[in-house]
Amino acid sequence: MEHSIETKLIKADKAFKQWKNVSFADRQKLIAKAAELFKSKSEEFGEIITKEMNKPISQSISEVEKCALMMNYYAEADNVLQPEKIESEYAISEIHYVPKGVILGVMPWNFPFWQVLRFATPAILAGNTVVLKHASICFGSGNAIEKIFVEAGFPEGVFQNLEVGHKEVKEILEHPIIKGVSLTGSEKAGAEVASIAGQKIKKSLLELGGSDAFIVLDDADLDEAAKVGALARLQNCGQTCVAAKRFIIQKDIEFDFLPKFIEEYKKYIPADPMNKETKLAGMARADLADDLEKQYQKALDNGAEAIIPLERISDTEFNPGLVSVKEGNPILQEELFGPLGMVMIADNDDKALEMANNISFGLSNSVWTKNKDRQQFFINGLESGTVNINRMTSSDPRFPFGGTKSSGYGTELSLLALKEFVTAKTILGK
Ligand code: NDP
Repeated sequence: MEHSIETKLIKADKAFKQWKNVSFADRQKLIAKAAELFKSKSEEFGEIITKEMNKPISQSISEVEKCALMMNYYAEADNVLQPEKIESEYAISEIHYVPKGVILGVMPWNFPFWQVLRFATPAILAGNTVVLKHASICFGSGNAIEKIFVEAGFPEGVFQNLEVGHKEVKEILEHPIIKGVSLTGSEKAGAEVASIAGQKIKKSLLELGGSDAFIVLDDADLDEAAKVGALARLQNCGQTCVAAKRFIIQKDIEFDFLPKFIEEYKKYIPADPMNKETKLAGMARADLADDLEKQYQKALDNGAEAIIPLERISDTEFNPGLVSVKEGNPILQEELFGPLGMVMIADNDDKALEMANNISFGLSNSVWTKNKDRQQFFINGLESGTVNINRMTSSDPRFPFGGTKSSGYGTELSLLALKEFVTAKTILGK
């Protein structure tokens, strides 16, 4: 391992030995300060995001503002980590929540501030320190975040950006100083990192891909569903784990809904990411655009029909595409991480549920119906970490966020995230 990296791990460990003794309330004050700084610099940081990964600037600025909102939620959160006294026959009978130590974050480029801070904020508030391995195209974002932690007054070493490529993750994760890892990214990266953590008996949390369903039933508000559906697929150029990727439309409304949906979809035209009016720009990297094109071809080769053809107009830009896909097409088992949506037609509610669940992922599905019984049917039946009724997915710091099946394990956001990187220590005595 490079000397400079090891030095940072040692610094993180040293910082942990002090930070774990700082009170929850004092940690919250620093988090509130950092939130204020992120908010005040949202334009500046928005520009870093857009330059690094092409996101339209208004979405980049909103991302930074949402980070501030999330940090304020934790700055005001109840201390669920204080020792709990349990009624029992013992004279001393308590649970203590003990932070684990230095936690590694392996983070992606699609939300370069949000993904990092969503993991790091509760981990740090719980008393851990964090080292970040950011996506290789997002080192500027990683460094900007580190600077804010220092500027807010966190002790040096509580949050550090490592600037390393993915090949170096194994050695870092195997280092005895690292006590756990949180990864957001592809299944492939998640499986590799989790297996290294497993070999070394270290805690891991995985937030991986999804291919969530957006189910529109015959009693839905079709205008609203069409408008929100297009946004749910195309926001961030379709590069969102919880984006709507499969539109499951009930047969009776196919010809009412699809024209509305197509009209909304066609409003997304690639433009300059630095223009505040822009809703869609290019993908983050040309190789990711190549992959999406291959997936489009694979869908067509296996019988899918283009409703709106996917058109590549530059290295990273597309006119968004929409394909009609039938059950059995192997593309349905893949995540489409870009501006390409899939439409499926379901005869009835049972079939819509079956189609929605018939994938290896399970992150955050969305169902559109006004009928309470039908809502309940899907709430009970959908295999995903979140079910949205008459709304698209967007995470909210107050509620748990995480997946089932190959979408990963562990909980981010909410008070539950505070307990991900702690040991529940039982204290019993006579
Ligand atoms: P990756 O999963 O490869 O990248 C995410 C992070 O993991 C990056 O920091 C990357 O580092 C790191 N990484 C990659 N491989 C390993 C490894 N073997 N060991 C340790 N760390 C690793 O995503 P890609 O950028 O290649 O995107 C590919 C696909 O992944 C997308 O098309 C999408 O399907 C999915 N994805 C899902 C995300 C989500 O939010 N769930 C986010 C991003 C991608 P480095 O940059 O150095 O390679």
